[in-house]
Amino acid sequence: MTIAQKTFGQPKASPEVLLDTLFRPMGVDGVYGRTGRYEGVVEALAALISRHREPQAEILRFPPVVSRALIEKSGYLKSFPHLLGCVCSLSGSEREIGAAVDRFAAGQEWTDALSTGDLVLAPAACYPIYPMAAAAGPVPADGLMFDVASDCFRREPSRDIDRFQSFRMREYVFIGAPAQVQAFRERWMTRATGIADALGLSYRVETASDPFFGRGGVLVGKAQVQQELKFELVVPVRSAEQPTACMSFNYHRDHFGLTWNMRNSAGEPAHTGCVAFGMDRLAVALFATHGVEVAQWPASVRAVLQL
Ligand code: AMP
Ligand code: ZN
Repeated sequence: MTIAQKTFGQPKASPEVLLDTLFRPMGVDGVYGRTGRYEGVVEALAALISRHREPQAEILRFPPVVSRALIEKSGYLKSFPHLLGCVCSLSGSEREIGAAVDRFAAGQEWTDALSTGDLVLAPAACYPIYPMAAAAGPVPADGLMFDVASDCFRREPSRDIDRFQSFRMREYVFIGAPAQVQAFRERWMTRATGIADALGLSYRVETASDPFFGRGGVLVGKAQVQQELKFELVVPVRSAEQPTACMSFNYHRDHFGLTWNMRNSAGEPAHTGCVAFGMDRLAVALFATHGVEVAQWPASVRAVLQL
């Protein structure tokens, strides 16, 4: 279901031109060095999103890794095991580690000596905030709001210009009563379309589902659409026919409240929601829409980005 739309045109810059101007290959699909031209826009977007922050939001920035136990407990393996990246390393005695290095030097297999550690790569920016909020005691009547960000990893190698394995995510998160979370999400859907308008982007806001794992996941995805738990703001980046999700507006109901025993003073489980900005996708969408020469972007767009 589409709930908002702004003239849906074809992108101006082709994926080939975007790849060439904005990124430098690093030998792995979906993993790029980023040029100064590109990073300038990512930074300007981050500042624009900060200017829209609600005053009560507490700011936290997370590293690109999170505890494996946290992700296991969050239910990630049930929903998205295919996307997870785990940190592994050589461990053991000097002799054991040396033997693995020697095997590598001799042109033999060495990676079987790696062992899984207690870290995984962050799949989204908001996961660490829920146990932190739960540890702080009962959720206050006004709820809790956070501004979080991290580098994220998802194991979805692709040569598409809008799909990275490593990308930046910024999120506003709300924890509180169901009606408060719904109101937060609605507010942000309105605000986000305002931001997209100011950025001169074509977009649609529509119901969406996450890429849940396996055949069972298809049903979970359908239920998610039906219950309107996820909306996405999509922008033509590769094409107007297959637009790209650049922001998402998510309602988790009491999933994290129950998982982390996060409750209000009456003992009811907290509901949660988040609005996620795909910083890299938004930046690519701007270049795709307005071309690769920032100086030639519409004056109103440069003004709103202070570029
Ligand atoms: P999601 O949790 O899937 O709703 O992701 C939040 C936002 O992160 C999406 O709306 C995208 O803008 C961005 N994102 C998700 N996956 C990728 C990816 N593979 N490459 C770049 N950005 C992504
Ligand atoms: Zn989130």
